[in-house]
Amino acid sequence: MSSVLALSDRIHGQALEVSAHYKRAEAELIEILQQVEKHRVFIRRGHPSLFSYVTRELKLSESTAYSLITVARKARQVPELKAEIRSGRMTLSNARRVASVLTAENKKDWIQAACELSSRQLEKEIVKVRPQEATRERATYTSKDRVKLELGLSEREMLKLRRVQDLLSQSKKRPVSLEETIAALTSEFLTRHDPVEKAKRHQVKKGPENGRDRKQVFPKRLVTRREELNTGQKVSGLPTTSVAAPVVTQRRLVPSQHKTTSRESIPAAILHQVNLRDQRKCMHILADGTHCNQSRWIEVHHKIAVSQGGPNTFENLITLCSTHHKFWHLRSAR
Ligand SMILES: [Zn+2]
Ligand SMILES: [Zn+2]
Repeated sequence: MSSVLALSDRIHGQALEVSAHYKRAEAELIEILQQVEKHRVFIRRGHPSLFSYVTRELKLSESTAYSLITVARKARQVPELKAEIRSGRMTLSNARRVASVLTAENKKDWIQAACELSSRQLEKEIVKVRPQEATRERATYTSKDRVKLELGLSEREMLKLRRVQDLLSQSKKRPVSLEETIAALTSEFLTRHDPVEKAKRHQVKKGPENGRDRKQVFPKRLVTRREELNTGQKVSGLPTTSVAAPVVTQRRLVPSQHKTTSRESIPAAILHQVNLRDQRKCMHILADGTHCNQSRWIEVHHKIAVSQGGPNTFENLITLCSTHHKFWHLRSAR
């Protein structure tokens, strides 16, 4: 009997030791990620974001990466977070939760709460001061091609959405669902503002001899807007005056590195071709051979710099995300 007890004590002792080691390792990871971010190591290693570096290079799970990065960034302001995690008084998940409300001013109370409360209790306290935290945005697949979308909305925005729903129902002469309303809003927006959609329209305007099959490159929902403009008739569900399209200037598409040199802007026709080819996504190839494919914060880069005589041609231009754009410039400066 005593030997069974001794074994149990020994295993328990080991478990305590390993978990203390685990907590130390979490605190050390937070520390080192602060260094990685400060010295932009992830950019030098070719990653579009710190998140990509942590998941692809350090091979940590997405949720762990998200927690570590959130806490690492908050710990710049409130370094106590690291010490509390290291000592085992605060879990990483509670540190991640409390990061949304924690400031250098209120840190005393919130750190105490994050150390003492269970994750559920802590969440309740956070929602009291930040009601929007109660509905974290989430998209989950419910079947192969259906997604359940959860999000919180202010009452004001909800009333605006209902207004759009009313207008759309009116023009379709039947009640439409919120799903149809959101679908109409997104296609309306993309038609007006997506550079890839604009490029497709440009290609069609040039005629079928230059572009490809008219039907292929000009889907029906894009025709609607053009027909409206040409005929003055309202074809799609939304009133034509609903949103004023902001003017997209060439300047906005030119990356900051290039702003200082005076030079000719990229001709719209060339830019359209580049956007169609690259689909306005980051074309940087990562270490694992896949494209970065980021479609946000996209900039146009000259492979041969303008200062080196690089022309505004289809072949010399490429779309990159802002991080890889910096990376390409760093690389060429070496
Ligand atoms: Zn560039
Ligand atoms: Zn990229």
